[in-house]
Amino acid sequence: MKLEELPAASREPIKKLFTFAFGLLTDYGIRQRQYKVLCETMPARICPFCGCEGLDAPGAPQEDLDHYIPRSKYPFAAANLRNLAPMGSRCNASYKHMQDPLRDNEGNRRIACDPYLANGVSISLNNSIVDEAATDRIMTEWVIDFQPASEAIESWETIFHIRERWKRDILDEPTFNQWLGDFRNYCRSATLRFATDHDVTDAINRYEEYLSGCGFRDRSFLKAAVFRFLSVRCAQGCQRLWPLLRDLTGTPQPPNIRIPI
Ligand SMILES: [Zn+2]
Repeated sequence: MKLEELPAASREPIKKLFTFAFGLLTDYGIRQRQYKVLCETMPARICPFCGCEGLDAPGAPQEDLDHYIPRSKYPFAAANLRNLAPMGSRCNASYKHMQDPLRDNEGNRRIACDPYLANGVSISLNNSIVDEAATDRIMTEWVIDFQPASEAIESWETIFHIRERWKRDILDEPTFNQWLGDFRNYCRSATLRFATDHDVTDAINRYEEYLSGCGFRDRSFLKAAVFRFLSVRCAQGCQRLWPLLRDLTGTPQPPNIRIPI
C-alpha cells in the first residue's frame, strides 16, 4: 500500500514505525547476514540487476541491500527482507534512484521483476546488423532481444537502461575486438586445427558452449551471445565475417572469397 493511500493521520506514525524496524535489521546484524547468505548462494557475486557490476564481499563497507520498492512510497516494505536485494552502486545511484518498480512515470501500475523469483531470461543478439560496407568496423548495431518478452522484462529494462548500458559499456568496438582476440587465443591454446570453414564454426560453437557455462562471471553470458550471433551469421554465409574469422583462426581463404549461402 502506498503512503498516500493511508489515512493522513497515520502516515507519519507508520513511516516512523517501519523506519525504526528497518534500523533494527541493521542493529541486530540481520541485513549483513542476509547479504552474506545471498552472496554465498548467488552463482557469481555480480549485481543481479545488470549482470555486470561486481559486488563487494560481505563485510566490505560499500555494498548494501537496496530497497527495491522505495520505502518513502511504501512504508510497510521498509523492513521487509524480501524487499532488500543486493544492487550494484551504478544500478542503484545512477539508474534506480527512487524509481517505483510497480508504477511507471505516469503512475500507471506495471508488472515488475521480483529479484528473488526471477525466471531465466535468454539474451539474443542474432538480429544485430553487420556493417557489410565498412572495412574497419564490423558492427553497425547490436540488437538486444530478451526472451521470453514480457512486461516485467520491459519494466526492468526501462528502470535500469539495460540495452543502452550493455551496448555502450560492453558491446563497444574495442571490447568486441578484444573478444575476437580472446577467441583466437582460445583456438591457439587448444591447438585446434583449421583446414575448412566447418572447423571455424565448430570452434565458435565450442567456445560459445564454454562461455555459456561461465554464466555471469566476467560478463560471459553476453560474450556467449556474441559468439552465438557469429555462429548464426556464419551459417548464413555472412560475407563480411567469414574472411575475418578465417584470418583469426588461420583457416585458408578460398581463391574467391564468396561464401555459398
Ligand atoms: Zn548493476
